[in-house]
Amino acid sequence: MISQNMKALIKKSEGISSLFSDAKKLKQQYGIENVYDFGIGNPNVKAPEKINQTAIKLLQEENSLQLHGYTDSIGYADVRKKIANSINHRFDTHFNENNIVMTVGAAGGLNVIFKVLFNPGEEIITFAPYFSEYDAYAMNVGAVLQAIPPNTETFLPDLTKLEQAITSNTKAVLINSPNNPTGVVYDESIIAEIGCILEEKQKEYHTHIYLISDEPYRELVYDGAEVPYVPNYYKNTIVVYSFSKSLSLPGDRIGYFVLPSELDGYSEIFQASEVATRVLGFVNAPALQQKVVAECCDELTDVVFYDANRELLYQSLTEYGYECIKPQGAFYLFVKALEQDDKAFCKKAQQYRLLLTPATGFGCPGYVRIAYCVSRETILNSLPSFQELAKSYGITAKSE
Ligand code: PLP
Repeated sequence: MISQNMKALIKKSEGISSLFSDAKKLKQQYGIENVYDFGIGNPNVKAPEKINQTAIKLLQEENSLQLHGYTDSIGYADVRKKIANSINHRFDTHFNENNIVMTVGAAGGLNVIFKVLFNPGEEIITFAPYFSEYDAYAMNVGAVLQAIPPNTETFLPDLTKLEQAITSNTKAVLINSPNNPTGVVYDESIIAEIGCILEEKQKEYHTHIYLISDEPYRELVYDGAEVPYVPNYYKNTIVVYSFSKSLSLPGDRIGYFVLPSELDGYSEIFQASEVATRVLGFVNAPALQQKVVAECCDELTDVVFYDANRELLYQSLTEYGYECIKPQGAFYLFVKALEQDDKAFCKKAQQYRLLLTPATGFGCPGYVRIAYCVSRETILNSLPSFQELAKSYGITAKSE
């Protein structure tokens, strides 16, 4: 009855679906407050107050026909201009409204740009572990997602393997820093080297290779980590951005992508982005939210809150004997499972009322992701469960 592609996607998300249903059962059985749900990246920090105030003000003052009407598929020109100005101010770039396309979050942006770029069978390379929805986005357009295996020492991208993986059929490389699920941040030397490799490979194969930088977590960094602005290092870069995490607006479905004028094929890609937004059924990013983020794009979320969660969880878990790198960004801790099978480990964790995400779906079996964008109370209350879970595998705390 349903398509083969959907059958494959359903099969792939069975693990996640069963986690959701297990979570529901556990919460019914023990009460929500007694289950420690580290499953999804839904921010626990409220959106900045200015978001609601701006929305109210707009609804009271603006022409409501405009606020609830269709917009240009690429978004309102004045909104795109304000966002371009904000980027220019922050990253010393020279964008204008014709370099910005408003999108339905980063997910919408990635789907539009994939639709624009890929012929069936063309390759996109990314680094494992990676945001698991990339597989589905690639499948939507018949592109082949090739994941470079993880370097589990650092979780930084293996650039020698990148060089070896690129072929004449490679249309794009997809990076995500700060990274979901590991929290690593790529520094300037890594971004510059990726740029050099792509320049060389373009010359070698006489092709265009686009670097798609998926950046919903750009502002969520700790310990002074810096996130280089990728178009300043490689001209064929497309930045996909979202306000879901940076302003805690995941349900508002608002983001944008940046098409620098220097991009090879810029005019065609810009025009195709408009058509792709329409034909994918997005039609346009939500009109009211476009106007709201135009006024609020320089607002900041409470990074101190996430940082305190990060410290508490990292220090506690490593003390209990868990192995993980200390993340520098996003709001995830990527932890080695205490048995080989990460799904079995997550099932076992549920006995201690802990909901974790197995990393097989991120292309990195043997690990789990812990989303610490939860309340501090949840983390504090969950710590005895993490300790008991470790003990159940015969692991004793460092201080014992
Ligand atoms: N890319 C990454 C790496 C993500 O982690 C997410 C959401 O968690 C998305 C894209 C999609 O974000 P949005 O809510 O903006 O569609």
